[in-house]
Amino acid sequence: MEIQKNIQEIIKSIPANVTLVAVSKTKPISDLQEAYDGGQRVFGENKIQEMAEKFEALPKDIQWHMIGHLQSNKVKYMAHFVNLIHGIDKLKTLKEINKQAKKHNRIISCLLQAKIAQEETKFGLSFDEIEQLLKNPEFKELENIKIVGFMGMASFTDDQKQLNEEFASLNSFFQLHKTKTATSNCQLETLSMGMSGDYNLAIKNGSSMIRVGSSIFGNRNYSS
Ligand SMILES: *Cc1c(COP(=O)(O)O)cnc(C)c1O
Repeated sequence: MEIQKNIQEIIKSIPANVTLVAVSKTKPISDLQEAYDGGQRVFGENKIQEMAEKFEALPKDIQWHMIGHLQSNKVKYMAHFVNLIHGIDKLKTLKEINKQAKKHNRIISCLLQAKIAQEETKFGLSFDEIEQLLKNPEFKELENIKIVGFMGMASFTDDQKQLNEEFASLNSFFQLHKTKTATSNCQLETLSMGMSGDYNLAIKNGSSMIRVGSSIFGNRNYSS
């Protein structure tokens, strides 16, 4: 029951227009079922095969979000059911998703991952690279994907000022492009920012989707 209580507390504390993605990576099916029984319908996983196994085992009205870094050769295992892919940082990956989505006659929604952390290790595109990608004629040809927003991960730090700056920078970039960039396969409406440690700050900076794992399911045994 702890899981349901945690979710309810988070839902109560965030605005109604912010979507809570329950990040269930590494957690057993029984934990997801408990969250589901409490009403949670959006789950985030970071490994394609693990997500596909959970999809098979759980009710079919769950929305599955892929939040991890993608290996192109595995996209085919989720193309028939994934609802949103958060971590796109290459045109090549988008092309593969497009190809697999086409086989299932679907249009798969994706978020471009922006690099906002000052740390070196994080994946993602610079704002410049995002602009280039959205202008690329090869991108415009992709009819079975749709870019619906951006995703960002802030630095792993307690420095509130730095976190605030990182979230604010992505929000301004998002707001700028929201109005000027709409095309048939790009309509920006979602800003995915904020995890267990920083989602309140992310929401203050315009986040419309938070990805929360440990505050719901407890700490993970191994990090991933
Ligand atoms: C694991 C993960 C999260 C959730 O992290 P918590 O700190 O457990 O809330 C959010 N986003 C991404 C991309 C993740 O990999």
